Amino acid sequence: MAVPQNRLEQMLAKLRERGFRITPQRLAVLKILASSEDHPSVEQIYEQVKADFPTTSLATIYKAVTLLKELNEVLELGFPEGSNRYDGNKPYPHPHMICIKCKNIMDPDLMGLKQLTEEAAQKTGYKIIDHRLDFFGICPACHEKE
Ligand SMILES: [Zn+2]
Ligand SMILES: [Zn+2]
Repeated sequence: MAVPQNRLEQMLAKLRERGFRITPQRLAVLKILASSEDHPSVEQIYEQVKADFPTTSLATIYKAVTLLKELNEVLELGFPEGSNRYDGNKPYPHPHMICIKCKNIMDPDLMGLKQLTEEAAQKTGYKIIDHRLDFFGICPACHEKE
């Protein structure tokens, strides 16, 4: 698994700056999140970390993810049913494609988003600071299985 070195460095720098210790488990969580193109849940991160650190608890992973969330180093995608998912690769607001069958989540690269944001601000007078844009559907892999 290729870890984008600069994302990992940014996360480590933020933690060190705030005086947090980088334990081996925390480093493992950071690595998974920095390369998280599949937007893992805490449980999925836990499964991966446990492979290398069998004594790790789910609570430890929760704490590490919560800490990163507080430092704005990970984006949380909340869902009313099912687990929240996390993007540490892009910790800023961006649109998501969500498969309702396999729960795969990916980042589409949308050219029109900037324009849409400007239009929304212009039409409402809002100063936009955040957005949440989720597209729900059936991913190509699930579509093929049908
Ligand atoms: Zn799918
Ligand atoms: Zn994302």
